[in-house]
Amino acid sequence: MARRRTERGDFSPLRVYSDPFQHAAIAAAVVAPLTRGTSRRVVVTAVAASVVIDLDHVIAARSARPRATTGLDQRPRSHSLLVAAIAGAAVAVRAGPAHGWATFAALGSHLLHDAGDTAAATPILWPFRPARQIGRRRQVAGTLLLTTGSIAAGYAAARARARAAACADCAL
Ligand SMILES: [Zn+2]
Repeated sequence: MARRRTERGDFSPLRVYSDPFQHAAIAAAVVAPLTRGTSRRVVVTAVAASVVIDLDHVIAARSARPRATTGLDQRPRSHSLLVAAIAGAAVAVRAGPAHGWATFAALGSHLLHDAGDTAAATPILWPFRPARQIGRRRQVAGTLLLTTGSIAAGYAAARARARAAACADCAL
């Protein structure tokens, strides 16, 4: 599996500036099936989570300059499924399970997209496994898995909503 082909300090303006849009588009697509049974605002939550996570590069590089943020040997540890799960749980407590799932799925799709390229290694399974890249095929498989989770959650939410509406009718 290709490791890091891009040398430290390599800088592709096209990649750097299109990256947030790619992450946002993928996160929106992954979470879209969830809107079947919940509010469309879950897509806003997903897009925000998928873009905000890259602020950790700025913190790790102690600079907002693209050359510094993309020149790290390894992506920051906040680029891990553990952190995605904690963030998802925290959002679920505050804003409900749909937004919690949207946060986790968006961060998961972001990690998979990062781990699918040939740039700096991604600590996706930190602290259990060392940082590594997984390739585009596994990225697609993982992203489809997250989308399947959104389809299932959207279906369950739609059924729960229908049941609640039916019960409201029969209680009268
Ligand atoms: Zn990233």
